[in-house]
Parts: sequence; C-alpha cells; structure tokens
Amino acid sequence: VRAVWLTLACNNACAFCPQQEARTSPGGGFFSSEAIQDRLREAARLDKTVALVGGEPTLHPELFAFARLAREAGAEALVVQTNGRRLAYSSYARGLVEAGVTAVDISLHGTTAAMHEFHTRTAGSFAQTLTGIGVARGAGLRVGVTCVLTRSNYRHAPELVRLAAARGARAVQFAPAQQLPGGGRARALAAAPRRDGASVPGRGEAGRPGAGRRAAAGGERIARARPSLRRRGPGDPGIKGQTRSTSQPSPWRT
Ligand code: SF4
Repeated sequence: VRAVWLTLACNNACAFCPQQEARTSPGGGFFSSEAIQDRLREAARLDKTVALVGGEPTLHPELFAFARLAREAGAEALVVQTNGRRLAYSSYARGLVEAGVTAVDISLHGTTAAMHEFHTRTAGSFAQTLTGIGVARGAGLRVGVTCVLTRSNYRHAPELVRLAAARGARAVQFAPAQQLPGGGRARALAAAPRRDGASVPGRGEAGRPGAGRRAAAGGERIARARPSLRRRGPGDPGIKGQTRSTSQPSPWRT
C-alpha cells in the first residue's frame, strides 16, 4: 500500500492528533495539487493499492479528480482513510465509488456519542461517522474501521467490533494511542489502564482516532509519500516533502 497525503486539515479535533500544529501552517494544511498528482502517479506505479490520507482527505475539493487520476495511473485498489463524517451523505459516497474509490478506512473511537466525542472533541461526530459507515457500505465500498485504543475506550473494544460489524464493516483494527507519532500527549493520556475501574469517559483520559491508521502491530509495510506543503504567497519555497515507511495493518484487505 502506498499512501499519499492530500491535506492536514480536518473537521475533527482529536485529543491525540499528531497533526494539530502542522494544520495551522500557511495554506491551511493543504498540499499543492501538482505535488499530489505527482505522488499519486508514483504511488500507482509502485503499488497496486493506493491510500488517500490526511488530515481528512474528504475535505479536499479535488478528491474525486485525484481518485480518477490514481486509477488511470494504474492503481487497482484505492482506499480513503477518513473520519467518515462526509460519507453520511449518500451522494458523496456514491461519488467516491464513481471516481474509482474501492474502500474506506473509517475512524471510530467509541460505542456511544459521549465516548467517541470525548476523543474527537467534536459534537455530532459520532452520529455522522456511524451513519457514514453504513452509507459507505450501502454505496458498495469495502469498509474497515480503525479505533485508537485508550484507557477511556479499551474496555469497550468487543462492543465496538459488534457495532462496526452491524453497520457493515468487514474488519476492525485497534491501535494503541501511545504508539502514535508525536504522542507525548497521547502517551500521557493513554498509557496505562485505570486501576479504579471507573467507567468511561473520564476526566483526563483520551486517545486519538485517524492515527490508528499509523500505529498497530503485525501490519504490512506502508510507504507514505508526503508531498510538499506550498504556501499561497509568491516566492514562497514551501516545505520540502518527505517519504517514510511505517508498519500498518490494512483492514480493507482482510
Ligand atoms: S486524528 Fe484524524 S480524524 Fe482526528 S483530528 Fe487528526 S486527522 Fe482528524
């Protein structure tokens, strides 16, 4: 799997998101279209499966065009890693399918609105994400769910699997929050189970979604091609891109 970043922007505000600071960069965390197109062609040349990631890739206005480009460039499978909120709109989910997207990896971090939104810090995100899972499945997309495990939700892992399966997910992966990049805050929030057995969520506990895509054990290798951030002002050199590899499971393949 080759992953290409579209943006660092997001409509959630997860407590453990490692991209919060980068999101405030000039340009709002959006990468240049030209850089993304180059990375997509490269990714499709190197691997049969390409993943469009963020941030929240569904916020990018050119996502459908990028998807078509990746498929035309040879990608046989195309995955969008998303918090799933925009998938609650059936026309959008159908648009993804028509553009060539084959699967989605959706972040879900709780079995109730209180639990999920304790992590995402975004009111209403649970209902949209849960609806998005079902709508995506109904549109014909393969659906995997990623949950970042924290001390606020780990006791509910079995329920979360049942909930995701009931909505049509074919796989669930769990990622410990303390393995997330830049996870000083995540480690502090999620390091150890509570000893008092208190129910969740509780004050001072959190974890982070979306990033579950980047942690976890026992996964395959994934190469992330991160395009340059380009400012919108003239003469701005932007930030040089980078490529790195990380271990990651791929629920859309199971
Ligand atoms: S973890 Fe994912 S869903 Fe949450 S704020 Fe960061 S990019 Fe958005």
